[in-house]
Amino acid sequence: MSLNKVKSVCSYCGTGCQLTLGVKDNKVLTTVYDENQGFHNGQLCTRGRFGYQFVNSDKRLATPLIRRNGKLEPASWDEALTAVAEGLKSAEASGSDAVAGLITPRLTNEELYLVRKLYKDVLGSENFDHSAGYAHSALSAGAFESLGFAASPSTVTDIQKSDLILVVKTDAYETHPVLGFEINLGVKRNGVDLRIISDKKGKLSRLPKAKTYVYKPGNEVFLVNALAKAIVDNNLVDATATGIAGLEDCKKSLESYTPVQAAEVCGIPAEEIVALATDYAKADKALIILPLGLGYPGHDKALAQALINLALVAGKIGKEGSGVLIMGEKNNSQGAVDMGIYPAGKGKGASAIIDACSAGTIKALYVIGENPVVSYPNRKKITDALDKVGFLVVQDLFLTETAEKANVVLPACSFAEKEGTFTSVGRIVQHVQKAIKPVGQSRSDFDILNGLSGLLGGATFSDPGKVFAEIAGAVNGYAGLSYDKLGQEGALIPVTTRPKFVPAPARQSTAEAGKYALVTGSALYHCGTMSRFGEGPMHVCPEGYAELSREDAAALKIEENDLVKVASAGAEIQLKAKISMRMPKGVVFAPYHFNEQSINTITDGNPVTWVAIRK
Ligand code: SF4
Repeated sequence: MSLNKVKSVCSYCGTGCQLTLGVKDNKVLTTVYDENQGFHNGQLCTRGRFGYQFVNSDKRLATPLIRRNGKLEPASWDEALTAVAEGLKSAEASGSDAVAGLITPRLTNEELYLVRKLYKDVLGSENFDHSAGYAHSALSAGAFESLGFAASPSTVTDIQKSDLILVVKTDAYETHPVLGFEINLGVKRNGVDLRIISDKKGKLSRLPKAKTYVYKPGNEVFLVNALAKAIVDNNLVDATATGIAGLEDCKKSLESYTPVQAAEVCGIPAEEIVALATDYAKADKALIILPLGLGYPGHDKALAQALINLALVAGKIGKEGSGVLIMGEKNNSQGAVDMGIYPAGKGKGASAIIDACSAGTIKALYVIGENPVVSYPNRKKITDALDKVGFLVVQDLFLTETAEKANVVLPACSFAEKEGTFTSVGRIVQHVQKAIKPVGQSRSDFDILNGLSGLLGGATFSDPGKVFAEIAGAVNGYAGLSYDKLGQEGALIPVTTRPKFVPAPARQSTAEAGKYALVTGSALYHCGTMSRFGEGPMHVCPEGYAELSREDAAALKIEENDLVKVASAGAEIQLKAKISMRMPKGVVFAPYHFNEQSINTITDGNPVTWVAIRK
């Protein structure tokens, strides 16, 4: 079988693995292994290797849909785009604050740039955001305030050059599997000393000599502050830190985070906290890794700033093999931050947008690629809010649970059907090429946004390359870039650090009597809600579950695969039990990707939800 081979970039997580798509008869039939591709030498995880089938899924939306007499019915593009333009214009008549957008960071940089232009230049609204508002805050607010730029100071190639890696949560292997492979190689090939702070053990914990420090869920900022405090108290502050603004204020802010106090709050013995801090400070090259995502509401601005303070006080920023790698969840999470898809000035963020929908002040909501009904916390609040919006537009590949509520649904193309760029966790901008023609009548987000902008009297562009040329002139770090210059390897966005210490106050999560600490996150090889349409991820993990310790399972008389009721203050759901050795007593883990056992029915956006469990 002769296949047309097209080089591209994976559209799942932020790692930015390069792919070669094998294409025939306008279908992606395989991904072809090419050891010469990318920093990862062609290695892919199950998502990248077998998750592409969502492109060919027979569940793809093939035509625009318009709600008529309460039912979504097929419509022409002219009808649909005219309805969207009129709906947005009519809402805008109530004031520019009456229009808002929730946008996926899976779009290309060019499409995200068009989104921003549409809102700011055409609709006059700054109400747009992505990733529920919190899943990017470690970058857009944390790194931005502490380092002067909204990106990681480190890159993925620092992993193997490090002497000691401190990973926050073992789930880094699940969220960004190929970076998990890199950590694995660093440990096994280069003798990297691996330390993990997490609310449970995991795959990374099983690597040779890895040490996992399991803290009580929700207290990660407290623990990181205690590590910094131990460095200060043991005279291990690096000479470079004394020249950085805010050191003395930061030291004062750390006073109450003594290792003894942290032992009580976090459940890790004080001497182990001091030993970890000492090993980290004394390592010549030490890298901190922090995964982000919709399932990790605690991985936010405060945690990023606490980690950056720790790295600064130990002199670990600005050195090869050292620093902080903040790993955005989706394929273009870094690009979405770079293109400014979050509120600035008087704009509303995702949470405020949902509140304003509930209050009836937002009259039109345009959702592109996000599926808040399943992936944002507090499902009831989200569904009530969407039900109150007068005009809801959803643009997606599938008729998602959010799209089912829309007035107009616009069918969008997958990454395989469009051209543009993605920017990875490691700040590499890579060129995505069109491998197949659009499926059905779907259109690229670029074409849809361009068409809409034209109808509303805004600027239009002939092709994504013209938008990229404008990005190169307007977006910090992208200056001088062009598709030609990106070539096969992509281009590294340069950053210049302007570090300062910013105190990071710790929230504390205390146990509720008789309750279990529910923590959410990613299941292995799933990513957002899109991976539910890929055979590979669904083969590995087809449904949601509640993972609990052997001890808790025995006490509750629960066996593997039993259906258990998990109830928070507001609601109850049933999940299949999974019993594992990695879970500490009193802690339950559930992934967030699935609609049928939707965990957001019982979570509200706090890092920990206290739940009752029964058979
Ligand atoms: Fe794709 Fe991420 Fe897997 Fe790489 S690690 S193949 S980018 S899902």
